[in-house]
Amino acid sequence: MINEKMQNAFNDQINKEFYSEYLYLAMKAKFAEMNLQGFVNWFDVQVQEERAHGMGMYDYILERGGEVKLEAIDKPQIKGTTPIEIFEQVVEHEEYVTSRINALMDVAEEIKDRAALSFLDWYLKEQVEEESSVGGVLATLKLIGDDKKALLMLDKDLAARVFNPPVIG
Ligand code: MG
Repeated sequence: MINEKMQNAFNDQINKEFYSEYLYLAMKAKFAEMNLQGFVNWFDVQVQEERAHGMGMYDYILERGGEVKLEAIDKPQIKGTTPIEIFEQVVEHEEYVTSRINALMDVAEEIKDRAALSFLDWYLKEQVEEESSVGGVLATLKLIGDDKKALLMLDKDLAARVFNPPVIG
């Protein structure tokens, strides 16, 4: 049986993962408006990943005999309008998610829930990958600057991304 404090922390993070899904869904629409279909595809994969992250914790709570409690998801707020501005926010958001996973691990450590710690290890590694991947796109966008041709080349690259359902835990 999962400890209640741990369960609440997981439920809170499920909400944050679903918020991430919602935020990236909103960003996907912004890139569709810009007619950058490769970015649209990239965000589509990102959306599916966030859903999988949330569901991983959802399933985990149930597996440990806990209670899943879903709360309202905040309205997504997109701060910028250009690809660079949007990706600056993506990087910032993923850094925030990493800090949240660390906080979850703090709770697991505090109550000595080693099973939860081991489960969360996957999320920590995933965040290293997420930060590297989104940071890479932002760095490329900064190199591209106002070069429309180079932006279209990046768009073509991002069109190749495919969703591989993660095996969590
Ligand atoms: Mg996530």
